[in-house]
Amino acid sequence: MTERVTPEAAAAAAQAGPVPTGAAIPPGAGPALQPTIFELSRPGRGGGKVAHPPKDALDRIPAGMRRTAPPALPELDEPTVARHYVNLSHLNYSIETGFYPLGSCTMKYNPKVDEWAARLNGFAALHPFAPDENAQGTLQLLWELERALAEISGMEAVTLQPAAGAQGELTGILMVRAYHRARGDTDRTEVLVPDTAHGTNPATASMAGFTTVSIPSAPDGGVDLEAFRAALGPRTAAIMITNPSTYGLFERRIADLIEMVHVAGALAYMDGANLNAIMGRFRPGDAGFDVMHFNVHKTFSTPHGGGGPGAGPVGVRGALAPYLPVPRVLREPDGTFRLERAGERPRSVGRVRSFVGNVGVLVRAYAYILAHGGRGLAEVSEDAVLAANYLRKRVGESFEIPFDRVCMHEFVASAAGLKRETGIRTLDVAKRLIDHGFHPPTIYFPLTIEEGMLIEPTETESVETLDAFADALAAIAREARETPDLVRSAPRTAPVRRLDEAAAARQPNLRWRPAAGAETPCPD
Ligand SMILES: *Cc1c(COP(=O)(O)O)cnc(C)c1O
Repeated sequence: MTERVTPEAAAAAAQAGPVPTGAAIPPGAGPALQPTIFELSRPGRGGGKVAHPPKDALDRIPAGMRRTAPPALPELDEPTVARHYVNLSHLNYSIETGFYPLGSCTMKYNPKVDEWAARLNGFAALHPFAPDENAQGTLQLLWELERALAEISGMEAVTLQPAAGAQGELTGILMVRAYHRARGDTDRTEVLVPDTAHGTNPATASMAGFTTVSIPSAPDGGVDLEAFRAALGPRTAAIMITNPSTYGLFERRIADLIEMVHVAGALAYMDGANLNAIMGRFRPGDAGFDVMHFNVHKTFSTPHGGGGPGAGPVGVRGALAPYLPVPRVLREPDGTFRLERAGERPRSVGRVRSFVGNVGVLVRAYAYILAHGGRGLAEVSEDAVLAANYLRKRVGESFEIPFDRVCMHEFVASAAGLKRETGIRTLDVAKRLIDHGFHPPTIYFPLTIEEGMLIEPTETESVETLDAFADALAAIAREARETPDLVRSAPRTAPVRRLDEAAAARQPNLRWRPAAGAETPCPD
């Protein structure tokens, strides 16, 4: 176990003065690694306030189903249990503890009013098997949310069912497959994906049975039109485009690209993860995209990370509507709502998730959209773009900016020059940011940028926070030149220092085991 606060960290914290705006706990003041609950266990400790079972309880359990030995449970008093879990929770970094510039993830602040709405009993306590008559409010909300997403995207119909963006992609590409098959167009076995794409795009294409063809980017960061033209043909089922791209750049040739796709008889899929940059300004449906997904947890507020929770609605233009997953929410002529019945829409790709989707996440999205309104959503995009461009200029004072043109809601920076000069890499910079009180940005993605950092500030951050982050990066660039060992050995103030990341990913040690010969704590 590490010490609670190292002397070095305590000194640093004392000198650091006031916490910079937007930074988390000052360097060194963070909680230490916690012992496991088993290590805190002491034989015989416990609350003893739980009612004991009746005397003959054991007799009521068939002999063959009884434990032969007591379970190895830790024994603790209640305050120790409460403190243990609260201290563990303090090890979390979150958007509510500090700035979270994780590119491509849109870690914006999530308004509390959306949490309030999602917790309303009528939504949160509704049984998923409740008959339609008893679920009218939820069905109406879902129907209206579909209409709102259709309006925002310029698509004609929307399914809310997929559980996240990745599953939305799969749903969309399965619809593309069903569309080509229904037309007898079965030679279309390839999906074109730019080399800057999120890994979920090629994964989706191959899960749906297609071959991925990777398209290189042009020097300006957009899709290389010549390479694209050469790859496009009668075998192309679809192209998957992220717009703006994961470089944070708007694809200027989008109209030409989509026209070429359609002339070739293929469909255009838009990865909508970056909708936060374009809401109210650009509608993928108007641009000619046939299908797209939304990452509701990114764009429309839901605290996310570490694998969930999310929702990945998919919008389609009319030709793909027959293939949407079942059941859809329908509005009857009398204004009531109901779910589609089995067999009602035979060309559907089927169900992709249980019930109607992640309703709690969808309620938050609905609340967020209504609270902002059309103009408010456009302002979100404008502010996200403004924040990113401001930060791009400031970060450009100490790091290289590979595409020095106006960016959308995020931008790439590179430590390639710093590495040549000092040996300090992007990974070292990211680790050192932790000591400066910030969550690191996304690093080494997109894969095409040498020593890349993908930085997304979002619209919810103040200019003071953006300045504090840029100042921290500038300080680290100085440290790299003056005291490189300090940067190379970061983080110095976190409870865990530099990890062997490959071993942590490949051989994770997730289970506590008692030291050999130690007594396993057991109740009587
Ligand atoms: C986040 C993201 C995805 C995947 O979405 P999930 O909701 O995490 O499954 C796909 N593409 C891009 C560009 C993304 O940023």
